[in-house]
Amino acid sequence: MATVKDVIRSFSCNTGRVKGLSLQVIDEMNLLIPGGVLVNIDDLDVSGNAATVNLFMQPKAKEALRRAIRRRGVTLQLNSCYRTVVQQHILFSWQGSGCVSIAAAPSKSNHEDGFAIDTPDFDAWIPALEAEGWEWFGPGDEVHFTYVGGGVRDDVGDIGVKAFQILWNKHNPSDQIESDGGYGPETAARLDRSPADGFARARILKLKAPPMDGEDVRKVQQALVSLDLLEASQLNGIYDTATKLAVEIFQRRSGLSVDGQVGPKTRKELKIPT
Ligand SMILES: [Zn+2]
Repeated sequence: MATVKDVIRSFSCNTGRVKGLSLQVIDEMNLLIPGGVLVNIDDLDVSGNAATVNLFMQPKAKEALRRAIRRRGVTLQLNSCYRTVVQQHILFSWQGSGCVSIAAAPSKSNHEDGFAIDTPDFDAWIPALEAEGWEWFGPGDEVHFTYVGGGVRDDVGDIGVKAFQILWNKHNPSDQIESDGGYGPETAARLDRSPADGFARARILKLKAPPMDGEDVRKVQQALVSLDLLEASQLNGIYDTATKLAVEIFQRRSGLSVDGQVGPKTRKELKIPT
């Protein structure tokens, strides 16, 4: 399993390898902020390498981009759009390596704030983008445009760091770090050790033959015991009929759909990390 550190050491000059982990960070960011903070822009007339370009941004920036694309009437090619803390951490580590001459510290790039894009076709796009609240950076970074039309939050880079810290803590119960949204040595070390493809997603637990068993079943049973829905003597790490019945009672009580299976919604309601 490749880690972020392995990707850094490869000096591939490409952050596409961490797409899986990046998407988990974006999901976590949207969970963290009520109503979400980033929206998908793949319904706009844009194109970009799906492996490396995360088609997400803040809603106001997206609407301005939609107008600019309508104004010019052609597909906008993107080299970069939303950049997660994971990607910025890698670029930051590559500074001076030949991949990257200079990179902002993680949380400080406005790609991480969700209101910046890079397009190789910058010359042709300057009039339409500038007419709709997007500012060209200029010769110092000629592919880069920043949305300056207002109505966006400027703390999204910090939210991204915090989201990563929360994600790390969910998957590393014995190595908890502070989730303060600050990028420092503690967070950098955990980014290095994170799996490039993302943390293992929890499996869906259900009654089947042979029965499912393991630590994840035990955690669900522990939660059910603490809610008095299961006897302590039934805590056996096996997803059996008693467990399924207890899950169904819990689901009914919580207003969830009652299927006797433990997926993301039931897990979240049981307050078990996913
Ligand atoms: Zn840029």
